[in-house]
Amino acid sequence: MSEAPSVTLEARSPYELRVHLGDGVPEQSVREALATGDMGFIHSYTTGSAVDGPGLRVVAWTTGCVWRCQYCHNPDTWTLTNGLPISVSQAAAELIKYRQGLKVMKGGFTLSGGDPLMQHRFAARLLAAVKHMDIHTTIETNGFYGDRLSDAELDTIDLVMLGIKTWDPARHLSLTGKEIEPTLAFARRLAARKRPMWIRFVLVPGLTDDLNDLAQTAEFAAGLGNVERVEVLPFHQLGRFKWERLGLNYTLSSVQPPTPEATEEAVEVFRKFGLKAY
Ligand code: SF4
Repeated sequence: MSEAPSVTLEARSPYELRVHLGDGVPEQSVREALATGDMGFIHSYTTGSAVDGPGLRVVAWTTGCVWRCQYCHNPDTWTLTNGLPISVSQAAAELIKYRQGLKVMKGGFTLSGGDPLMQHRFAARLLAAVKHMDIHTTIETNGFYGDRLSDAELDTIDLVMLGIKTWDPARHLSLTGKEIEPTLAFARRLAARKRPMWIRFVLVPGLTDDLNDLAQTAEFAAGLGNVERVEVLPFHQLGRFKWERLGLNYTLSSVQPPTPEATEEAVEVFRKFGLKAY
């Protein structure tokens, strides 16, 4: 499979709008790629990230996501073929040059998206290859397709950063377009296997800041026993231009980021349940 040669994988940030990079890939090849994981679609790479897992990290942002979170700041990653097609061996080879640096910085590789488990075969093979290079591996996912990874594949992932969007099932459906239960089932499975997990929670005023909802999320997280950290991420408007450029209906134009006090209040809810929250 040939790549689009004029586009570099490395981007200044995932906030670069990228579309149609994989449009030339025939449908049959896309199907084969999804089935085998020989090839994946990647929006971009970011090097030197300090916010996508422990230490300093190289992050690969995959394309493909079936959720439609109202606050999604990278809607260009929803469509699989917006990403650049790359073979699993090429993707791994991109990383080997960072190996020593990542070790020194106590960092590693993070596979994010989109939702990386939309390309679960590619994700599993890339993470295994990276683990084989003795690089710390992290996946950031909404967990919806967590059941597509085998137990052995889960064991090649050093850390799962799981996005929990909100607790109430009806609110979750309206916020993301999908049910919450598969995410919670994946969290329980990771807990049963004692796999390290961080939880990411985006705080959106008026949408996800209900304190009772937060307390239920916190109670669930605390009960798992494998949650090392909770990150409360204040909503922002950095992705708004993407919605507009893609002709999508953005409903949060008038929503302001939460105040520092409101963010701290949310963090405190998680701390009250004994979790390390930031
Ligand atoms: S799960 Fe992530 S990538 Fe998918 S719509 Fe939600 S925020 Fe966007």
